[in-house]
Amino acid sequence: MKIAVIGGGISGLSCGYYLKGAGHDAVVFDPRPGGAIGSVNIEGCILETGPESWLAMKPWAEQLIRELGLGDELAGSNDAGRKTYVLRHGHFVTLPEGLQMVVPTKIWPVVESQLFSWNTKFRMAIEMFRSPKAMPDRSVSAFVADHFGEEAVAYLAEPLLAGVYGGSPDDLSAASVLPKFVEYEQRYGSVVVGTMRDKRKPSGQSIFKSMRHGMGMLIDTLIARVHLVRSAVEAISKSESGWLVLVDGEWQAFDHVVMACGANHSAPLIAPTDSRLSELLAAIPYTSSSIWTFGYRRSEVPHSLDAFGFLVPKPERRAIMACTWLGTKWLGRVPDDKAVFRCFSTNPDVTREEALDDLNRLMGMNAEPIFALNHRWPNSMPQYSVGHSARVAEIETRVKGIPAFSLIGNAFHGIGIPDCVRSAQEAVKGIGPAAGQGPIN
Ligand SMILES: Cc1cc2nc3c(=O)[nH]c(=O)nc-3n(C[C@H](O)[C@H](O)[C@H](O)COP(=O)(O)OP(=O)(O)OC[C@H]3O[C@@H](n4cnc5c(N)ncnc54)[C@H](O)[C@@H]3O)c2cc1C
Repeated sequence: MKIAVIGGGISGLSCGYYLKGAGHDAVVFDPRPGGAIGSVNIEGCILETGPESWLAMKPWAEQLIRELGLGDELAGSNDAGRKTYVLRHGHFVTLPEGLQMVVPTKIWPVVESQLFSWNTKFRMAIEMFRSPKAMPDRSVSAFVADHFGEEAVAYLAEPLLAGVYGGSPDDLSAASVLPKFVEYEQRYGSVVVGTMRDKRKPSGQSIFKSMRHGMGMLIDTLIARVHLVRSAVEAISKSESGWLVLVDGEWQAFDHVVMACGANHSAPLIAPTDSRLSELLAAIPYTSSSIWTFGYRRSEVPHSLDAFGFLVPKPERRAIMACTWLGTKWLGRVPDDKAVFRCFSTNPDVTREEALDDLNRLMGMNAEPIFALNHRWPNSMPQYSVGHSARVAEIETRVKGIPAFSLIGNAFHGIGIPDCVRSAQEAVKGIGPAAGQGPIN
């Protein structure tokens, strides 16, 4: 079949790659392929324009990377140095050991922690005695406050989730963002009890994985393996036998269309075919982000950099929400005589001065960086807001009603890179192999 894949981020490129493997003639359209993923080499440091890693426990990105012959490029985070600081009253306080996202699983680190008041520690202890209950979908803030109190929202849930989803826990859906914990609430009442019961033996592998020479290598390799046209799709229209796709002012015929350009960009394209689907896609909110990456001479950084970095909860925040100490988290990416700080913010307009003043204040530095790089990502993070799963269920019902059409990407069942790859794998399985090809594994 001739298949148009609209959007060449990780979802669209991996879809194009798998479709080719299934014997289809797939064309990926994207004027700026890769989306936020890309790498930059500067002063001997390997830096990322957007995502820097993925959660190792989700296998789909790693499967793809191995299949592409890039297994030797896989690198794990330096978990021996794994520690995260959280800013509390202007000082770095260690995030207690044993936390699984927002849930404590070890008693003593929480008891000894300076991050929480005794009131919150007490709330965490008595959480184990709750009775099972099923609640309608509610915000992450409401869920966490119900289990552990408001301080756990402000100093745990908010900074942790703001870094991953680029959004506020007041809006994010507990059912979509913390599905396991919602399930534990229904089954055991207590999320602490549920997490302890399900606690797996450490796998021995790193928590995060990335690519030794940068995530950009994954995109470059995929680009080389697919038929990519560096143009935007302007419109699509259902035809008798399939689809017409408007690119560079010309209509081209395809048997099937895969949309992988984000819910926000898909909405106007699908509107003439299904206005309700377009409405549902447009209703998924998006947030923006910015990454400032500053490089310093190591000798001018007084801190020991003995952690992966720090989080800044909202009550303490100025410009930076989260900062990664790159050389500690990833061995081999920063030469010993340099220190690199990757500063994340959900304000895409944060200026160099604002980010730098904040970093210098927090790190007790006053030197000038030897390099500063900014990557802005406007409207790039879909928000799984309260009611997300019901909205996605309706989206999927409508998609099923449109022949020869698939919708993939980060807006539906997971924002991380592995989830995007999985969405591509599932779409290709749904499409099936080309005539005369063997089954898809
Ligand atoms: C700053 C940042 C940091 C992140 N960090 C991490 C991380 O550490 N780990 C992790 O797992 N995930 C991370 N994520 C999330 C993850 O990177 C994304 O969810 C994922 O890359 C999205 O891939 P995608 O292909 O679904 O969408 P996108 O990458 O958004 O790709 C969509 C593509 O569609 C194209 N497009 C739009 N309209 C059209 C059109 N009309 N015609 C043709 N093409 C079109 C765009 O150019 C774009 O390339 C991060 C995201 C951001 C923004």
